Amino acid sequence: MTNSIVPDIEENASRCQCPLCPTYNECMEYDDQRLFCSRGNTECNLDEEGCICGECPVWKEYMIKSFYYCRSSLKI
Ligand code: SF4
Ligand code: SF4
Repeated sequence: MTNSIVPDIEENASRCQCPLCPTYNECMEYDDQRLFCSRGNTECNLDEEGCICGECPVWKEYMIKSFYYCRSSLKI
């Protein structure tokens, strides 16, 4: 359960840029994880290799401010 202002809808999932991100890894790809700013962080281990949320149309539309939603619990 999250308190995100970003709706967990297919339109947002399809616009999510996470699969193009250098931090996105095989573990996250395995079950097509994405939209972490709405769904919360991953259980996968990861290395921070950069975050491209700032280039994402969802990030811009909802005027969220943080990065690395895949890693941390939500800080919008
Ligand atoms: S802001 Fe980041 S986590 Fe949220 S949809 Fe965009 S790329 Fe994905
Ligand atoms: S939340 Fe940011 S760091 Fe994590 S996969 Fe998405 S774009 Fe990359």
